[in-house]
Amino acid sequence: MRVLLVEDDDDLSKRIATSLRAEKFVVDVVRNGEDAEHAGLTEIYDAAVLDLGLPKIDGVAVLRSWRAAERTIPVLVLTARDGWPDKVAAFKAGADDFVSKPFKIEELILRLRALVRRASGHAAPIVKCGSLAFDAQLGTFELDGLPLKLTAFEWRVLSCLILRRETIVDRRELIERVYQSDTDVDSNSIEVIVTRLRKKIGGQRIETTRGRGYMLTAVQ
Ligand code: CA
Repeated sequence: MRVLLVEDDDDLSKRIATSLRAEKFVVDVVRNGEDAEHAGLTEIYDAAVLDLGLPKIDGVAVLRSWRAAERTIPVLVLTARDGWPDKVAAFKAGADDFVSKPFKIEELILRLRALVRRASGHAAPIVKCGSLAFDAQLGTFELDGLPLKLTAFEWRVLSCLILRRETIVDRRELIERVYQSDTDVDSNSIEVIVTRLRKKIGGQRIETTRGRGYMLTAVQ
């Protein structure tokens, strides 16, 4: 899962990014509205965390611009404690949820995961594909009822595939959701991760569609 973090307060930005990365999210950090607008219009993200008070272009204007361009990315807005007018303005501009500063990082992560889950069309917290189950609220996997240990890269690929189970997920899109935007990615890297995943969960569960991508499927 890839998140765009827009926050000009360096300490807060680092704290959020570190916590999200510890939860296996890919995080792109930008510190002003101009960069945020550009990133949101040109890159693929599962969600954005957007501060409102930003240099160059404020957060509400950034959000309006994304929505005017029909970018559907779920957006979690960061507001000041008594920022009622800000909240209204953000919702009017197309925000999906907010947390008020100061907040617990755990709450931000729970809300982000809920946004990503709902945006992929799942109402229940547990998403199943055969005997593989993903707790989209806690970020954990179980296979045949037992916890499944995954590296960060494996987790990113498998969470993306299970949220869109039985659908082909484009290889280039997977690359975008697995690596930070400043990473040089080897063209085989996704194949390598998928091979390792197949060893852990069973080869038939991930189908390859040549030239397109991968599909997670329930095996009988
Ligand atoms: Ca700010």
